[in-house]
Amino acid sequence: MIILLVEDDRDLAANLGEFLESAGHQVDYAADGSIAIQLCSRNRYDVIVLDVGLPGMSGLDVCRRLRTEARVATPVLMLTARDLESDVLAGFEAGADDYMRKPFSLKELSARLSAIARRGRASGGSLSVADLVLDVDTLSVRRGEARCSLTPSGLRILEVLMRTAPGVVSREQLVELLWGEAPPASDAALRAHIHLLRQAIDPPDLPRLLHTIHGVGYRLANDADPR
Ligand code: CA
Repeated sequence: MIILLVEDDRDLAANLGEFLESAGHQVDYAADGSIAIQLCSRNRYDVIVLDVGLPGMSGLDVCRRLRTEARVATPVLMLTARDLESDVLAGFEAGADDYMRKPFSLKELSARLSAIARRGRASGGSLSVADLVLDVDTLSVRRGEARCSLTPSGLRILEVLMRTAPGVVSREQLVELLWGEAPPASDAALRAHIHLLRQAIDPPDLPRLLHTIHGVGYRLANDADPR
């Protein structure tokens, strides 16, 4: 894979870069956010490793700008100093695909990178549940006439829920979908993704479509519909 590593800590960057190169990857470095954005506009990467604590523009701002201004869809793995639920949410809201808390094991990082880089989406047509519609080609989501803004992981979760609806998708299936062989230690990340997805597709004035099945998983259905 061709990897962009955005990390201002030189020792950590060197250590991580050496490890990834020895595993057969090609690595470009950026020590701050503006260099990272420049590199992304010139080159195509398979995955971006992005430190949150950067001088000047934070990693969250870098990610947001990559997604909204530069229209870069490359998977992003964030490196964070903390993994409070609020930090995790902020990272996903900025458009990150996954995060790891420092210090991390190099082996685990490598597994997580492969998992997010592998995530491809099936294409073709549109999926719908009640008035919620996902166009699988353009990845646009609408609830009625209103456009919903989803994170990359939110889209992946929604697609599986829609394909399975009104059936239940287990938490384990979603963890496998998002993280493959390298699931995070706590379920905070999955809960954060579901929270953001619910905010995006279930406005308070409309019937709720995303239901939590406690201890099992999640399902999408309009419970006003007879089943
Ligand atoms: Ca740093």
